[in-house]
Formats: sequence, C-alpha cells, structure tokens
Amino acid sequence: MAKCPHCEKTVTLKKSEPNQICRETEGVAKKEVMYSCPHCEKVIGFGFFLGGVLTGRP
Ligand SMILES: [Zn+2]
Repeated sequence: MAKCPHCEKTVTLKKSEPNQICRETEGVAKKEVMYSCPHCEKVIGFGFFLGGVLTGRP
C-alpha cells in the first residue's frame, strides 16, 4: 500500500477502493494528469500520457 507524503494516510490507484487517488486529466491527444490525495487533497504528482485518438483511452 502506498501512503500520501503529506498526511501519511493510505492511498491506492484502484478504482473500487474509497481511498483512491484523485486523478484529473487535461488535454486531448497528449494528456497531462495530476494526482491528488483523497484525504488531504494535496497534490501527490504529475505525469502525462498519450491518449484519445491514439490509444482510445478516456
Ligand atoms: Zn494526504
């Protein structure tokens, strides 16, 4: 299990669990994503991936 670096509560990327990390995406073809803690709402990290027309990802 992963822990938030800010509040040290358990977080997960699994969608079925209540402590799932919040993920916000921005962009169409080249997406940028921001992860935030579901407990304290502080940002955990950023990333980007190719999506949309290229991979069919939402
Ligand atoms: Zn937190």
